[in-house]
Amino acid sequence: MTENVDFDAIVIGGGIMGTCSAYHLAKRGSKTLMLEQFEYGHKNGSSHGASRITRIVHTSPMYLKLAQAAYNEWNELSQSSKTTIFEPSGLLWLDDEKNTRQRHEFLSKHSIEHELLHGPSINERFQHLNYNHEWYAIYDPKAGVLLADKCQEAAQKQFMNNGGSAHFSEKVLNITPGKIIKVETDKNEYKCNRLIVTAGPWLSKMLPDLIVKTTPMLVGVNFWKITSNHELYKAGNKSPCLMISEDEKDFYVIPEVDHPNLIKVSEDQNCILDRHPQHGNIVIGGGFSGTGYKFAILFGKLLSKMALEEDVSEFELDQLKADRKIEPLDKMIHY
Ligand SMILES: Cc1cc2nc3c(=O)[nH]c(=O)nc-3n(C[C@H](O)[C@H](O)[C@H](O)COP(=O)(O)OP(=O)(O)OC[C@H]3O[C@@H](n4cnc5c(N)ncnc54)[C@H](O)[C@@H]3O)c2cc1C
Repeated sequence: MTENVDFDAIVIGGGIMGTCSAYHLAKRGSKTLMLEQFEYGHKNGSSHGASRITRIVHTSPMYLKLAQAAYNEWNELSQSSKTTIFEPSGLLWLDDEKNTRQRHEFLSKHSIEHELLHGPSINERFQHLNYNHEWYAIYDPKAGVLLADKCQEAAQKQFMNNGGSAHFSEKVLNITPGKIIKVETDKNEYKCNRLIVTAGPWLSKMLPDLIVKTTPMLVGVNFWKITSNHELYKAGNKSPCLMISEDEKDFYVIPEVDHPNLIKVSEDQNCILDRHPQHGNIVIGGGFSGTGYKFAILFGKLLSKMALEEDVSEFELDQLKADRKIEPLDKMIHY
């Protein structure tokens, strides 16, 4: 850290991405401040709630590798914080025969453990489900539920244990880039050598000139009341998470979720994980769409490494660059 700064690194945003980034920075010995505009545990962004699906099965080599690495990182966080943050349950990715067979072929080619199931065999295996012969599914035995509140708590605790500082209810109003970056808030002004911006749905407000645009979307969440056979619906009893792809839309079913909240999507539905195209000491993590949680602990590590100018070439991240050219999608992709 140079002498004329207050912090080596500042992280803007105390959602799961910011908290994981801050944790990894502090763990690597950086004097780090995390700034969050709302109180701890607020429900205005994307990260609150009890549960998020995590899975290994994806349909692009990049996401397969990221998903596997993220599992290891969550495991490490669980051990270091002595917190249970994952409940294994498996996941069924339900779709028609053609799409499911394509996924089966891709996953087999990449030696990813999974099973191909058909409607009647799904019902036989999971007594509380009822899918007719038109349905096929990929079963991911390693998938399960991340206990989101516990993940956030564990990352926050480990950030503080590693000497981090967190200021809640302090809103960033302005960033002045430079070799030394100036961050102005509604309470104070700080100087730092490097900055990570993980502002979630507020990213485009904070960095309006980014080439890749992200758009906030309100996501609806439904609750089902279980009226009988409660035991069959528990994740611990191997009641799988469901990912149902139908008519170019995905529906997710998990044992527990609570309030509707915000996510932000980029035009090609890939997130941004990159250095700022003009200011190399500013790093951006945003646009994580509705499936970003599972990667947070790994993305936090990669963002911290980018900020510290360490090598991240172990992963092929070109698709996540902040200045990539985007051909807007005219339909949903199911990665
Ligand atoms: C209903 C729902 C279900 C989901 N299900 C899954 C799932 O099953 N599996 C999965 O992997 N993912 C899932 N996701 C996606 C995942 O939750 C998000 O990708 C992830 O939480 C994004 O985290 P974030 O830190 O980028 O954003 P956020 O949690 O929104 O955090 C950004 C933070 O930045 C702060 N901030 C913004 N501007 C400022 C400022 N000027 N000053 C200070 N602070 C600021 C905000 O207050 C906010 O706290 C789901 C999302 C939703 C909404």
